[in-house]
Amino acid sequence: MAGLATNIVESLYIHVPFCAQKCAYCAFYSEPSSGDLINRYVAALIRELELVAHDLQPRTIFFGGGTPSLLNLRQWEQILRALERLNLLGAEEFTVECNPATVSPDKAKRLRDFGVNRISMGVQSLDEPLLERLGRIHTREMVFQSFDILRQAGFDNLNLDLMFAIPGQTMEIWRATLTEALALGSEHLSTYEVIYEDDTPLFAQLQAGEFNVDEDLACAMYEELVERATGAGFRQYEVANFARVAGTPASGTARFASSGRSRAGGRRSIPALACRHNVNYWRGGSFYGLGPSATSYVRGVRTKNWSNTQLYCEQLEKGKRAIESSEELPPLKRAGETAAFGLRMNAGWPFAEFWRATHFDLRDEWSAEMNQLVDRGWAEILPDSFHLTRQGLRFADSAAEMFLR
Ligand code: SF4
Repeated sequence: MAGLATNIVESLYIHVPFCAQKCAYCAFYSEPSSGDLINRYVAALIRELELVAHDLQPRTIFFGGGTPSLLNLRQWEQILRALERLNLLGAEEFTVECNPATVSPDKAKRLRDFGVNRISMGVQSLDEPLLERLGRIHTREMVFQSFDILRQAGFDNLNLDLMFAIPGQTMEIWRATLTEALALGSEHLSTYEVIYEDDTPLFAQLQAGEFNVDEDLACAMYEELVERATGAGFRQYEVANFARVAGTPASGTARFASSGRSRAGGRRSIPALACRHNVNYWRGGSFYGLGPSATSYVRGVRTKNWSNTQLYCEQLEKGKRAIESSEELPPLKRAGETAAFGLRMNAGWPFAEFWRATHFDLRDEWSAEMNQLVDRGWAEILPDSFHLTRQGLRFADSAAEMFLR
Protein backbone atom coordinates (compact mmCIF):
# COMPACT_ATOMS: atom_id res chain seq x y z
CA MET A 1 0.00 0.00 0.00
CA ALA A 2 1.36 3.44 -0.96
CA GLY A 3 0.79 4.83 2.55
CA LEU A 4 3.03 2.20 4.13
CA ALA A 5 5.66 2.15 1.43
CA THR A 6 6.26 5.90 1.35
CA ASN A 7 5.29 6.77 4.92
CA ILE A 8 2.91 9.30 3.44
CA VAL A 9 0.61 11.18 5.87
CA GLU A 10 -2.95 9.87 5.98
CA SER A 11 -4.74 12.34 8.23
CA LEU A 12 -5.63 15.96 7.52
CA TYR A 13 -7.09 18.54 9.91
CA ILE A 14 -8.20 21.95 8.66
CA HIS A 15 -8.91 24.76 11.09
CA VAL A 16 -11.52 27.33 10.08
CA PRO A 17 -10.91 30.24 12.47
CA PHE A 18 -14.22 32.08 12.25
CA CYS A 19 -17.29 32.14 14.48
CA ALA A 20 -20.43 34.25 14.36
CA GLN A 21 -19.75 35.23 17.97
CA LYS A 22 -17.51 33.98 20.73
CA CYS A 23 -19.01 31.44 23.18
CA ALA A 24 -18.55 32.25 26.87
CA TYR A 25 -16.33 29.24 27.58
CA CYS A 26 -14.26 29.03 24.42
CA ALA A 27 -10.49 29.38 24.26
CA PHE A 28 -10.03 27.99 20.74
CA TYR A 29 -8.48 30.31 18.24
CA SER A 30 -11.35 31.91 16.34
CA GLU A 31 -12.56 35.40 15.58
CA PRO A 32 -15.79 37.03 14.41
CA SER A 33 -16.34 36.43 10.71
CA SER A 34 -15.79 39.12 8.12
CA GLY A 35 -16.39 38.56 4.40
CA ASP A 36 -13.06 39.85 3.10
CA LEU A 37 -10.90 38.06 5.63
CA ILE A 38 -12.72 34.76 5.02
CA ASN A 39 -12.07 35.06 1.27
CA ARG A 40 -8.42 35.78 1.96
CA TYR A 41 -8.24 32.81 4.34
CA VAL A 42 -9.75 30.48 1.72
CA ALA A 43 -7.12 31.51 -0.84
CA ALA A 44 -4.33 31.05 1.75
CA LEU A 45 -5.64 27.67 2.82
CA ILE A 46 -5.67 26.47 -0.79
CA ARG A 47 -2.05 27.64 -1.10
CA GLU A 48 -1.16 25.72 2.06
CA LEU A 49 -2.88 22.61 0.72
CA GLU A 50 -0.82 22.91 -2.47
CA LEU A 51 2.37 23.03 -0.39
CA VAL A 52 1.70 19.76 1.46
CA ALA A 53 -0.40 17.79 -1.06
CA HIS A 54 2.60 15.77 -2.31
CA ASP A 55 2.98 14.29 1.18
CA LEU A 56 -0.69 13.52 1.79
CA GLN A 57 -3.08 10.75 0.91
CA PRO A 58 -5.86 11.32 3.43
CA ARG A 59 -7.82 8.43 4.88
CA THR A 60 -9.39 10.91 7.30
CA ILE A 61 -10.15 14.61 6.86
CA PHE A 62 -11.58 16.77 9.62
CA PHE A 63 -12.67 20.39 9.22
CA GLY A 64 -12.90 21.91 12.70
CA GLY A 65 -12.82 25.32 14.22
CA GLY A 66 -14.13 27.80 14.74
CA THR A 67 -17.24 27.16 12.73
CA PRO A 68 -16.53 25.54 9.35
CA SER A 69 -20.23 25.64 8.45
CA LEU A 70 -19.98 29.45 8.51
CA LEU A 71 -18.22 29.36 5.13
CA ASN A 72 -20.67 30.09 2.35
CA LEU A 73 -21.38 27.81 -0.58
CA ARG A 74 -18.94 29.59 -2.90
CA GLN A 75 -16.12 29.34 -0.35
CA TRP A 76 -16.82 25.66 0.25
CA GLU A 77 -16.91 25.06 -3.48
CA GLN A 78 -13.44 26.66 -3.85
CA ILE A 79 -11.93 24.51 -1.08
CA LEU A 80 -13.55 21.28 -2.23
CA ARG A 81 -12.52 21.88 -5.86
CA ALA A 82 -8.94 22.47 -4.66
CA LEU A 83 -9.01 19.18 -2.72
CA GLU A 84 -10.28 17.49 -5.89
CA ARG A 85 -7.61 19.09 -8.11
CA LEU A 86 -4.90 18.03 -5.64
CA ASN A 87 -6.19 14.43 -5.49
CA LEU A 88 -7.03 14.71 -1.81
CA LEU A 89 -10.68 13.65 -1.97
CA GLY A 90 -11.93 10.11 -1.33
CA ALA A 91 -11.12 9.84 2.38
CA GLU A 92 -12.80 6.95 4.22
CA GLU A 93 -13.97 9.41 6.83
CA PHE A 94 -14.48 13.08 5.96
CA THR A 95 -15.93 15.12 8.85
CA VAL A 96 -17.09 18.72 8.93
CA GLU A 97 -18.07 20.45 12.18
CA CYS A 98 -21.32 22.35 11.93
CA ASN A 99 -23.13 24.79 14.14
CA PRO A 100 -26.88 24.07 14.04
CA ALA A 101 -27.52 27.72 13.14
CA THR A 102 -25.52 27.49 9.94
CA VAL A 103 -26.75 24.28 8.29
CA SER A 104 -28.74 24.69 5.06
CA PRO A 105 -30.03 22.05 2.63
CA ASP A 106 -27.86 23.46 -0.20
CA LYS A 107 -24.69 23.41 1.86
CA ALA A 108 -25.42 19.94 3.25
CA LYS A 109 -26.00 18.57 -0.23
CA ARG A 110 -22.87 20.17 -1.67
CA LEU A 111 -20.70 18.75 1.12
CA ARG A 112 -22.21 15.33 0.60
CA ASP A 113 -21.61 15.54 -3.18
CA PHE A 114 -17.90 16.06 -2.56
CA GLY A 115 -17.54 13.06 -0.28
CA VAL A 116 -18.09 14.54 3.18
CA ASN A 117 -19.62 11.56 5.00
CA ARG A 118 -19.66 12.61 8.65
CA ILE A 119 -20.99 15.74 10.34
CA SER A 120 -20.18 16.73 13.88
CA MET A 121 -22.80 19.08 15.24
CA GLY A 122 -22.04 21.36 18.19
CA VAL A 123 -25.24 20.99 20.20
CA GLN A 124 -23.82 21.44 23.74
CA SER A 125 -27.26 21.61 25.39
CA LEU A 126 -30.94 21.35 24.52
CA ASP A 127 -31.92 23.71 27.32
CA GLU A 128 -32.67 27.18 25.97
CA PRO A 129 -31.49 29.22 29.02
CA LEU A 130 -28.23 27.25 29.11
CA LEU A 131 -27.62 27.83 25.40
CA GLU A 132 -27.95 31.53 26.07
CA ARG A 133 -25.74 31.34 29.09
CA LEU A 134 -23.04 29.65 26.99
CA GLY A 135 -23.37 32.32 24.30
CA ARG A 136 -24.36 29.81 21.63
CA ILE A 137 -25.93 31.32 18.50
CA HIS A 138 -28.38 28.48 17.94
CA THR A 139 -31.66 27.47 19.56
CA ARG A 140 -32.77 23.97 20.50
CA GLU A 141 -35.23 23.99 17.59
CA MET A 142 -32.35 24.58 15.17
CA VAL A 143 -30.71 21.40 16.42
CA PHE A 144 -33.72 19.30 15.46
CA GLN A 145 -34.16 21.09 12.12
CA SER A 146 -30.48 20.76 11.20
CA PHE A 147 -30.45 17.11 12.17
CA ASP A 148 -33.34 16.49 9.72
CA ILE A 149 -31.66 18.52 6.98
CA LEU A 150 -28.47 16.47 7.35
CA ARG A 151 -30.34 13.17 7.28
CA GLN A 152 -32.26 14.27 4.20
CA ALA A 153 -29.00 15.21 2.50
CA GLY A 154 -27.89 11.59 2.99
CA PHE A 155 -25.61 11.82 6.04
CA ASP A 156 -25.73 8.53 7.89
CA ASN A 157 -22.87 9.23 10.30
CA LEU A 158 -23.68 12.13 12.62
CA ASN A 159 -21.99 13.16 15.84
CA LEU A 160 -23.52 15.36 18.54
CA ASP A 161 -21.30 17.36 20.91
CA LEU A 162 -22.79 17.72 24.39
CA MET A 163 -21.50 19.59 27.40
CA PHE A 164 -22.10 18.91 31.08
CA ALA A 165 -21.40 20.55 34.45
CA ILE A 166 -22.42 23.89 32.92
CA PRO A 167 -23.08 26.50 35.62
CA GLY A 168 -26.81 26.43 36.32
CA GLN A 169 -27.25 22.95 34.83
CA THR A 170 -29.04 20.67 37.29
CA MET A 171 -29.07 16.88 37.04
CA GLU A 172 -32.69 17.15 35.89
CA ILE A 173 -31.75 19.43 32.99
CA TRP A 174 -28.84 17.16 32.03
CA ARG A 175 -31.14 14.12 32.05
CA ALA A 176 -33.66 15.92 29.83
CA THR A 177 -30.94 16.89 27.33
CA LEU A 178 -29.62 13.32 27.30
CA THR A 179 -33.10 11.92 26.70
CA GLU A 180 -33.75 14.20 23.75
CA ALA A 181 -30.25 13.87 22.29
CA LEU A 182 -30.31 10.07 22.48
CA ALA A 183 -33.77 10.02 20.90
CA LEU A 184 -32.35 11.77 17.83
CA GLY A 185 -30.50 8.56 17.01
CA SER A 186 -27.07 9.90 16.05
CA GLU A 187 -24.24 7.45 15.38
CA HIS A 188 -21.80 9.14 17.75
CA LEU A 189 -21.67 11.30 20.89
CA SER A 190 -18.77 13.47 22.04
CA THR A 191 -19.13 14.93 25.50
CA TYR A 192 -17.24 17.57 27.43
CA GLU A 193 -17.20 18.67 31.02
CA VAL A 194 -17.07 22.46 31.07
CA ILE A 195 -13.57 23.70 31.69
CA TYR A 196 -12.68 27.16 32.82
CA GLU A 197 -10.00 28.52 30.51
CA ASP A 198 -8.15 31.75 31.30
CA ASP A 199 -9.43 34.77 29.42
CA THR A 200 -12.95 33.48 28.90
CA PRO A 201 -16.10 35.19 30.23
CA LEU A 202 -17.05 32.01 32.09
CA PHE A 203 -13.70 31.99 33.90
CA ALA A 204 -14.16 35.66 34.83
CA GLN A 205 -17.62 34.86 36.25
CA LEU A 206 -16.14 32.02 38.30
CA GLN A 207 -13.39 34.31 39.62
CA ALA A 208 -16.02 36.90 40.52
CA GLY A 209 -17.82 34.29 42.64
CA GLU A 210 -20.97 34.25 40.50
CA PHE A 211 -21.21 30.47 40.88
CA ASN A 212 -19.39 27.55 42.47
CA VAL A 213 -18.00 24.44 40.84
CA ASP A 214 -19.73 21.31 42.12
CA GLU A 215 -17.31 18.42 41.48
CA ASP A 216 -19.66 15.80 42.96
CA LEU A 217 -22.42 16.85 40.61
CA ALA A 218 -20.02 16.76 37.66
CA CYS A 219 -19.04 13.17 38.60
CA ALA A 220 -22.68 12.15 38.94
CA MET A 221 -23.46 13.68 35.53
CA TYR A 222 -20.62 11.74 33.95
CA GLU A 223 -21.88 8.50 35.52
CA GLU A 224 -25.37 9.28 34.26
CA LEU A 225 -23.98 9.90 30.77
CA VAL A 226 -22.13 6.57 30.66
CA GLU A 227 -25.18 4.66 31.94
CA ARG A 228 -27.64 6.31 29.60
CA ALA A 229 -25.46 6.23 26.49
CA THR A 230 -24.50 2.58 26.91
CA GLY A 231 -28.14 1.74 27.68
CA ALA A 232 -29.13 3.40 24.39
CA GLY A 233 -26.82 1.23 22.28
CA PHE A 234 -23.59 3.23 22.33
CA ARG A 235 -20.23 1.86 23.29
CA GLN A 236 -17.85 4.11 25.15
CA TYR A 237 -14.48 3.82 23.44
CA GLU A 238 -12.75 6.87 24.93
CA VAL A 239 -13.20 8.92 28.08
CA ALA A 240 -15.60 11.30 26.35
CA ASN A 241 -16.60 9.49 23.18
CA PHE A 242 -19.32 6.99 22.37
CA ALA A 243 -20.12 5.22 19.11
CA ARG A 244 -23.28 3.35 18.24
CA VAL A 245 -22.66 -0.35 17.86
CA ALA A 246 -24.25 -2.68 15.34
CA GLY A 247 -27.63 -4.11 16.21
CA THR A 248 -28.84 -0.78 17.62
CA PRO A 249 -29.69 1.09 14.43
CA ALA A 250 -30.10 4.83 14.40
CA SER A 251 -32.62 6.49 12.11
CA GLY A 252 -30.20 6.32 9.15
CA THR A 253 -28.27 3.36 7.83
CA ALA A 254 -24.76 3.79 9.09
CA ARG A 255 -22.21 3.00 6.42
CA PHE A 256 -19.41 1.74 8.63
CA ALA A 257 -21.73 -0.19 10.93
CA SER A 258 -23.39 -2.08 8.14
CA SER A 259 -20.93 -4.94 8.40
CA GLY A 260 -21.98 -5.43 12.01
CA ARG A 261 -18.33 -5.76 13.05
CA SER A 262 -16.06 -3.69 15.19
CA ARG A 263 -12.61 -3.03 13.85
CA ALA A 264 -10.86 -5.42 16.19
CA GLY A 265 -13.69 -7.49 17.67
CA GLY A 266 -14.27 -8.03 21.41
CA ARG A 267 -15.58 -5.97 24.32
CA ARG A 268 -12.68 -3.53 24.39
CA SER A 269 -12.37 -3.17 20.64
CA ILE A 270 -12.76 0.14 18.86
CA PRO A 271 -16.26 0.35 17.37
CA ALA A 272 -16.62 0.70 13.61
CA LEU A 273 -18.33 4.08 14.04
CA ALA A 274 -15.60 5.54 16.26
CA CYS A 275 -14.14 8.79 14.93
CA ARG A 276 -11.20 7.42 12.94
CA HIS A 277 -9.57 10.82 12.73
CA ASN A 278 -9.38 11.13 16.51
CA VAL A 279 -8.35 7.50 16.96
CA ASN A 280 -5.31 8.35 14.81
CA TYR A 281 -4.40 11.15 17.30
CA TRP A 282 -4.82 8.87 20.29
CA ARG A 283 -2.71 6.18 18.66
CA GLY A 284 0.15 8.60 18.02
CA GLY A 285 -0.30 8.74 14.24
CA SER A 286 0.99 11.48 11.93
CA PHE A 287 -1.27 14.24 10.67
CA TYR A 288 -1.15 17.55 8.88
CA GLY A 289 -3.00 20.44 10.51
CA LEU A 290 -3.62 23.40 8.21
CA GLY A 291 -5.12 26.81 8.91
CA PRO A 292 -4.32 29.37 11.64
CA SER A 293 -3.29 27.86 15.00
CA ALA A 294 -3.37 24.29 13.67
CA THR A 295 -0.79 21.76 14.81
CA SER A 296 0.85 19.13 12.60
CA TYR A 297 2.73 16.04 13.68
CA VAL A 298 4.73 14.54 10.85
CA ARG A 299 7.52 11.97 11.21
CA GLY A 300 8.23 12.91 14.82
CA VAL A 301 8.24 16.69 14.29
CA ARG A 302 5.52 18.81 15.79
CA THR A 303 4.81 22.18 14.18
CA LYS A 304 2.28 24.86 14.99
CA ASN A 305 0.87 27.51 12.68
CA TRP A 306 0.52 31.14 13.72
CA SER A 307 -2.65 31.82 15.73
CA ASN A 308 -3.28 34.96 13.74
CA THR A 309 -5.32 34.84 10.56
CA GLN A 310 -3.76 38.01 9.04
CA LEU A 311 -0.25 36.71 9.60
CA TYR A 312 -1.23 33.27 8.36
CA CYS A 313 -2.55 34.79 5.12
CA GLU A 314 0.51 37.06 4.68
CA GLN A 315 2.91 34.12 4.97
CA LEU A 316 1.03 32.00 2.48
CA GLU A 317 0.65 34.90 0.07
CA LYS A 318 4.47 34.93 0.02
CA GLY A 319 4.37 31.20 -0.78
CA LYS A 320 5.60 30.07 2.66
CA ARG A 321 4.00 27.78 5.26
CA ALA A 322 2.75 29.85 8.21
CA ILE A 323 4.68 27.94 10.87
CA GLU A 324 5.26 29.68 14.20
CA SER A 325 7.15 26.90 16.00
CA SER A 326 8.60 23.50 15.38
CA GLU A 327 10.01 20.88 17.75
CA GLU A 328 11.36 17.38 17.38
CA LEU A 329 10.61 15.44 20.55
CA PRO A 330 13.17 12.97 21.92
CA PRO A 331 11.84 9.43 21.24
CA LEU A 332 11.12 8.59 24.91
CA LYS A 333 9.24 11.83 25.48
CA ARG A 334 7.23 11.24 22.34
CA ALA A 335 6.46 7.66 23.42
CA GLY A 336 5.31 8.95 26.85
CA GLU A 337 2.88 11.34 25.19
CA THR A 338 1.63 8.57 22.93
CA ALA A 339 1.11 6.31 25.96
CA ALA A 340 -0.83 9.07 27.73
CA PHE A 341 -3.12 9.75 24.77
CA GLY A 342 -3.85 6.10 24.09
CA LEU A 343 -4.79 5.42 27.69
CA ARG A 344 -7.81 7.66 27.25
CA MET A 345 -9.30 4.90 25.13
CA ASN A 346 -11.21 2.03 26.74
CA ALA A 347 -9.05 -0.35 24.73
CA GLY A 348 -5.96 1.12 26.41
CA TRP A 349 -2.75 -0.09 24.79
CA PRO A 350 -2.24 -3.52 23.26
CA PHE A 351 1.50 -3.93 23.94
CA ALA A 352 2.26 -4.91 20.33
CA GLU A 353 0.46 -1.82 19.01
CA PHE A 354 2.35 0.46 21.40
CA TRP A 355 5.61 -1.06 20.20
CA ARG A 356 4.65 -0.51 16.57
CA ALA A 357 3.76 3.13 17.29
CA THR A 358 6.78 4.05 19.44
CA HIS A 359 9.42 1.27 19.42
CA PHE A 360 9.25 1.17 23.22
CA ASP A 361 7.81 -1.60 25.38
CA LEU A 362 5.21 -0.19 27.75
CA ARG A 363 6.01 -2.99 30.25
CA ASP A 364 9.70 -2.08 30.45
CA GLU A 365 9.64 1.67 30.63
CA TRP A 366 6.41 2.24 32.59
CA SER A 367 6.04 -0.89 34.70
CA ALA A 368 6.09 1.04 38.04
CA GLU A 369 3.35 3.41 36.87
CA MET A 370 1.25 0.57 35.52
CA ASN A 371 1.44 -1.32 38.82
CA GLN A 372 0.66 1.80 40.83
CA LEU A 373 -2.51 2.34 38.78
CA VAL A 374 -3.51 -1.31 39.21
CA ASP A 375 -3.06 -0.98 43.00
CA ARG A 376 -5.40 2.02 43.00
CA GLY A 377 -8.03 0.06 41.09
CA TRP A 378 -7.64 2.43 38.14
CA ALA A 379 -6.13 -0.02 35.66
CA GLU A 380 -5.83 -3.65 34.66
CA ILE A 381 -2.92 -5.52 33.09
CA LEU A 382 -3.88 -8.32 30.71
CA PRO A 383 -1.43 -10.73 29.04
CA ASP A 384 -1.34 -8.63 25.87
CA SER A 385 -2.58 -5.18 26.87
CA PHE A 386 -2.99 -2.52 29.55
CA HIS A 387 -6.10 -0.42 30.04
CA LEU A 388 -7.79 1.86 32.54
CA THR A 389 -10.83 0.57 34.42
CA ARG A 390 -14.11 2.48 34.47
CA GLN A 391 -12.97 4.21 37.65
CA GLY A 392 -9.58 4.95 36.11
CA LEU A 393 -11.16 6.49 33.04
CA ARG A 394 -12.86 9.03 35.29
CA PHE A 395 -9.37 10.16 36.33
CA ALA A 396 -7.75 9.58 32.95
CA ASP A 397 -5.94 12.92 32.93
CA SER A 398 -4.14 12.19 36.23
CA ALA A 399 -3.39 8.63 35.15
CA ALA A 400 -2.07 9.74 31.78
CA GLU A 401 0.22 12.35 33.34
CA MET A 402 2.18 9.61 35.08
CA PHE A 403 3.39 8.38 31.68
CA LEU A 404 4.88 11.68 30.52
CA ARG A 405 8.67 11.79 30.46
S1 SF4 B 1 -18.65 28.03 18.05
FE1 SF4 B 1 -17.06 26.63 18.85
S2 SF4 B 1 -15.11 27.56 18.26
FE2 SF4 B 1 -16.70 29.14 17.99
S3 SF4 B 1 -16.65 30.29 19.88
FE3 SF4 B 1 -18.22 28.71 20.13
S4 SF4 B 1 -17.14 26.94 21.05
FE4 SF4 B 1 -15.59 28.38 20.26
